[in-house]
Amino acid sequence: MKILLAEDSRADAALMMARLASFGHEVTLAENGQVAFDKFCESPPDLVLMDIEMPLMNGFECANRMRAFEAMQKWAWTPIVFLTGSDVPGNLVTAIEAGADDYLVKGVPEDVLHAKMKAMARIAAMRQLLAIANQKLEQQASRDGLTGLFNRRWMDIKVDHAWVESIRKSTPFAILMLDVDNFKKYNDHYGHQAGDDCLRAIANTIEAVVVESNVEGFEGYTTDAFTARYGGEEFAVVIPGVSNLAYERCATRILESVRKLDIKHEHNMVWNMVTVSIGGCRIEPSSGELAKIFRDADAKLYLAKRNGRNRIELAG
Ligand code: GH3
Ligand code: MG
Ligand code: MG
Ligand code: MG
Repeated sequence: MKILLAEDSRADAALMMARLASFGHEVTLAENGQVAFDKFCESPPDLVLMDIEMPLMNGFECANRMRAFEAMQKWAWTPIVFLTGSDVPGNLVTAIEAGADDYLVKGVPEDVLHAKMKAMARIAAMRQLLAIANQKLEQQASRDGLTGLFNRRWMDIKVDHAWVESIRKSTPFAILMLDVDNFKKYNDHYGHQAGDDCLRAIANTIEAVVVESNVEGFEGYTTDAFTARYGGEEFAVVIPGVSNLAYERCATRILESVRKLDIKHEHNMVWNMVTVSIGGCRIEPSSGELAKIFRDADAKLYLAKRNGRNRIELAG
């Protein structure tokens, strides 16, 4: 384990460090509460062993601050064990109140210390597993179940960040809204299952175009674009830092890539295949607000529908 030992007594610290090292732990020493807190924030350990009486900041205050710091992080709970000179019941109560998990009397026998450290190492291993599981869960929560694209909830968060970044960097910002043409008729005619397959194929092709464009990074195009399933049979592509030409090119590529899928759709007007309509808006961040970009892109999408579908209408 990576152990942070907060101990102002050199003699006590040397003894404890030697014992912990002999059990195979990696120990970092902090000579007072302030240094311990700084090191804790800088590089989170698996366990904190904390003396109570220390200069600058005592152990109770230090533990309090560590817990406050952790409250701002996700899934963080580092075990804190207080080291006391004497086995007084009051110490335990105060220690737990301050956010500690346990306490140890300094002169504790070697085998007891060893056993406690083993138990703490188990907790550290569990925490790591939990962190990985939570990461996976978070990833799943950001994805749409049908298409695997980012979902609306995740897009709303991500788009706000991208927008703030665009304002900070003074770079243009574009959104494409896509809607599958006459998709109700597709479902009615081919069945809902085929409809789902069709949406997956469209999602894959949009994503492929965006990823390809990101990788290729053609002129006037940044590599931060992302795709989301906006809802039902609607998709959104967010393209920060994009030139007018590149934005048009991206929309054209998407429209054509869906046509190229060549999915039969007898009830989609004259084309007899699945198509999408695309509306877009691109602006300089100083000249607008995010909600308006979505509204304008949406208005253009409906214009594309009115003008006959299977086409692109762009603003900006
Ligand atoms: P328009 O060209 O004007 O967009 O016509 P449309 O038929 O595509 O539009 P409408 O809004 O009338 O119908 C959208 C359809 O999309 C209806 C709904 O059943 C279907 N849809 C939405 N989500 C899903 C889905 O997850 N799976 C399937 N199979 N169909 C879906
Ligand atoms: Mg002390
Ligand atoms: Mg729709
Ligand atoms: Mg539609």
